[in-house]
Amino acid sequence: MSYIFAVANQKGGVGKTTTTVNLAAALAAQGQRVLLIDLDPQGNATMGSGVDKRLLKTSVYQVLLGLASLAEARQFSETGKYDILPANRDLAGAEVEMVDLDYRETRLKQALAPHGADYDFVLIDCPPSLSMLTLNGLCAANGVIIPMQCEYYALEGLSDLVNTIKKVYANLNPDLRIIGLLRVMFDSRSTLSNQVSAQLEQHFGDKVFKTVVPRNVRLAEAPSYGIPGVVFDRSAKGAQAYLAFAVEMIERVKTF
Ligand code: ADP
Ligand code: MG
Repeated sequence: MSYIFAVANQKGGVGKTTTTVNLAAALAAQGQRVLLIDLDPQGNATMGSGVDKRLLKTSVYQVLLGLASLAEARQFSETGKYDILPANRDLAGAEVEMVDLDYRETRLKQALAPHGADYDFVLIDCPPSLSMLTLNGLCAANGVIIPMQCEYYALEGLSDLVNTIKKVYANLNPDLRIIGLLRVMFDSRSTLSNQVSAQLEQHFGDKVFKTVVPRNVRLAEAPSYGIPGVVFDRSAKGAQAYLAFAVEMIERVKTF
């Protein structure tokens, strides 16, 4: 059985894709078998894994609509050393096209079902919304990783996300739980960042990962080369944090 984790936060630009790509590559570097699923029509995780979204013949879109199997659509990320189910703009249409399909919230879950033994970790990069695509991610997953910036409005958005996760848990997916909150783009010199960080620890206790990912320009540069940050410049502070995060994750799942 694999650990299937959705990386979710309905806000854009909070580090979901950076977290998914770097955690995938860092887990792979630890010898874990990893599948990354790009559920965002922007295809940033696809490009960041060195797979050109403009050249896809099959993608997660066909898989969700039942036009291709996961085995047909997945590719290998040479730079990250993990499998990826890629995405591009086609996926934007899936939202509407799935409306008429039966069990539309669980299309991804069904597609993954035959592959329980193929991977140690499946990481799902969700789009910045609480849409049908994110719902598919949350229904397929057994855990949610929430990356967040430690700023005032981050806490406001968090309650919407937590409520959505509770609803999915109650109505659609009793296996779902919050694995943890990951502090990203952290600026240790900022008083506000430190205050919000302390509030998070107070409120969520050990649901807050110990690893803190600093703001680090090398992580932002890596995607334009199609290389995960942890591979692009392993010694950079941001890469080191994601490598440590993978180790923390492997330890954490042992307690499940
Ligand atoms: P999301 O997927 O939530 O929209 P991204 O992972 O794409 O967010 O991150 C948004 C932007 O911030 C991207 O340009 C990314 O390169 C940059 N970024 C993400 N994490 C960091 C970090 N720790 N340090 C510096 N830049 C970061
Ligand atoms: Mg993204």
